[in-house]
Amino acid sequence: MTNVLAVADHRRGELRDVSYELITAGRQLADETGGELHVAVISGTVDEFADKLNREGVDAVHTVDYGEEFNHDVYAQVLTQLYDEHAPQYVVAPNSVNGLDYAPAVANALNLPIVTDTVDLESDGDTLVATREMYGGKVETTTELEGTVVATIRGGEWPAAEGTGDAAIEAFDAEIDEDAVGSTVTGFEEVGGGDVDISEADVLVSVGRGIEEEENLEIIRDLADALDATVSSSRPIVDSGWLPKNRQVGQSGKVVTPDVYIAIGISGAVQHVAGMKGSDTIVAINTDPNAPIMDIADYAIHDDLFDVVPALTEEFQ
Ligand SMILES: Cc1cc2nc3c(=O)[nH]c(=O)nc-3n(C[C@H](O)[C@H](O)[C@H](O)COP(=O)(O)OP(=O)(O)OC[C@H]3O[C@@H](n4cnc5c(N)ncnc54)[C@H](O)[C@@H]3O)c2cc1C
Repeated sequence: MTNVLAVADHRRGELRDVSYELITAGRQLADETGGELHVAVISGTVDEFADKLNREGVDAVHTVDYGEEFNHDVYAQVLTQLYDEHAPQYVVAPNSVNGLDYAPAVANALNLPIVTDTVDLESDGDTLVATREMYGGKVETTTELEGTVVATIRGGEWPAAEGTGDAAIEAFDAEIDEDAVGSTVTGFEEVGGGDVDISEADVLVSVGRGIEEEENLEIIRDLADALDATVSSSRPIVDSGWLPKNRQVGQSGKVVTPDVYIAIGISGAVQHVAGMKGSDTIVAINTDPNAPIMDIADYAIHDDLFDVVPALTEEFQ
């Protein structure tokens, strides 16, 4: 019995972290419903991906070797066919650009309800309770859905599955109706023309309005160099045009989960925190001891960033 079908996410030849987070979310639902967790991986180097997705708790990985990149119509066709064959109770997909593209189409084709951007999922076997955030994370809402459901999960909310499993790896013989494939991926362009994906960084040196002027970013770059870290920022820095959009952390930026997040001159507004609260260790440098970021920091440095940052850089160099 397949209770959960999780759909792996990949881009430009790399599995994305959310694929492993989906395994954790999917395994939990499979445990709650007493069934199996199957994972689908469609397009790209599927055999290589399947080996990586064979983590603890996965019962089967279905591979569909069809094209290199994501294609809406291919994913929609494959997933409806996998659903017809395995009848999972829950289909869980990432709340990524790809997931948000195909999941509604799959739900529509199968006439199933869909809940998107979930941060928690719980099932008693009949009812799925899906938790979502509203108003920039100020409010959590729960939605109860009966029976079979398609859900997308927000990246960074579940820990990544670890360990090696003993899943059956099976090539799924999908029948793709070429006439129904109406789009083709012809290239890939990073939004903002950026070369860096901050959501993949292990250490982020993140800068906020406390930096005052664009020229002062130099001390932030020096610290990032000394730490071999990546520079990210709060929204005002991007709005000022001092860093490109792909460096913005937060509700309208990127969700990041680094090992270390150093928030420098950032107040910790809910819209910012929504993007970085999953960081392992948070260090905040702020002159205001009452800034909200100080409440969620593991290490709160109550001092002037123009003194602290150069001192830290010197220490790490
Ligand atoms: C719909 C919507 C979406 C949004 N999305 C995002 C988003 O994705 N990401 C995001 O970041 N924001 C987002 N915002 C904006 C958000 O509400 C805040 O305005 C923003 O996060 C504040 O940025 P900040 O902390 O850099 O600046 P501020 O709030 O101005 O904080 C600056 C901090 O620097 C400290 N400081 C000043 N001088 C020094 C010094 N010398 N040394 C040390 N500390 C100092 C101050 O004490 C203060 O805490 C969004 C807002 C809306 C309405």
